[in-house]
Amino acid sequence: MIFSQVLLAPADPILGLNDTFKADPRQDKVNLGVGIYKDEAGQTPVLASVKKAEAILLEQEKTKNYLGIEGVQAYNHVVQTLLFGEGSELITSGRAATAQAPGGTGALRIAAEFLLRNTDSHTIWVSNPTWANHQNIFETAGLTVKEYGYYNAEAHDIDFDTMMTDLSHANTGDVVLLHGCCHNPTGIDLTLAQWELVAQLCADKKLVPLFDFAYQGFGAGIEEDAAGLRLVASKVPELLVANSFSKNFGLYNDRIGAVTVVAEDADAAVRAFSQVKRTIRANYSNPPAHGALIVSTILNDAALKAMWVQEVKEMRERIAEMRTLFVDSLKAEGVTQDFSFISRQNGMFSFSGLNKAQVARLKDEFGVYIVGSGRISVAGMTKTNMPVICKAIAQVL
Ligand code: PMP
Repeated sequence: MIFSQVLLAPADPILGLNDTFKADPRQDKVNLGVGIYKDEAGQTPVLASVKKAEAILLEQEKTKNYLGIEGVQAYNHVVQTLLFGEGSELITSGRAATAQAPGGTGALRIAAEFLLRNTDSHTIWVSNPTWANHQNIFETAGLTVKEYGYYNAEAHDIDFDTMMTDLSHANTGDVVLLHGCCHNPTGIDLTLAQWELVAQLCADKKLVPLFDFAYQGFGAGIEEDAAGLRLVASKVPELLVANSFSKNFGLYNDRIGAVTVVAEDADAAVRAFSQVKRTIRANYSNPPAHGALIVSTILNDAALKAMWVQEVKEMRERIAEMRTLFVDSLKAEGVTQDFSFISRQNGMFSFSGLNKAQVARLKDEFGVYIVGSGRISVAGMTKTNMPVICKAIAQVL
């Protein structure tokens, strides 16, 4: 038999953990594994701005006809505005071209395949550590993955010198994956001065930045979080962006993101975009409409946009509050080890420094689920589950 030779795939390190969590019968179990925002009640509700947009769509949608290969055009336009800012030269000059994609993951895959089939840029550098799926996506698409240092485990801080040294060994044309903000899994972002140096290195060595921008608005603010991307985009002639609205619009299961190519000039952008569309056509023909229509409806309506901006702010501020509470609660549990670095990190995740054995004990003995690397989804913490989490951590330290 042919299929009987197939080996069983290992469980996904993050989504597999979710399955184990679901099957766990304990009442006070806590899931801090997968990156899903939870509100104070531990729920992941549909945003009010999204509900309103959906009501409008239900009323006004006239057809379920296919979209074009590149998706909803009004959506692609608002994506560019969010990424590069209102009136950006990249948009007005035609140097940026955007195609809707099924989530950030779909956008990364399209970017990778575009590079593989149309350029000599077949090596991509990712940070160590990075989101667990990056290597998987890029290798499956056919790119060679190399790593640059990013994290100093002792200092719980960025290892910027190693990052720059490692990237100085990249070859002309190599691609560098950069987390736009809220680095996953460390929560540690580059400062503007560091972005400047990375931009200069990319420009000098002719490296191609590929921005993974999955958390815009979860760091310092919607515009603020784009500062690194905008700075790099002002210094290099070419780059790619894969962005996602799974988190900041809470549209996880609508699979909505986009891939954006920035080329040297409008003419090169037209050609590059034609190949991006060809890649999409060969993969899934054209994207699903619902998520894109929600996002474009919200961002093209001043009142709905203001509502969404406020909702993102509330999510961002709740996570920041949980970081502080987490650090304080650990202290209150008698933990003497310094965890203050957690309140300095950005976005949904913190790299706790807990080792594999401690992570296993948290799960087995206390029903507290975090990823094996020690990554904790702070966005899953609430005032209610905080004592359970901190008591358990105090026990395993
Ligand atoms: N990039 C990073 C860094 C992420 O954390 C995620 C989601 N966990 C993605 C991309 C993928 O997002 P999506 O669910 O929209 O595919």
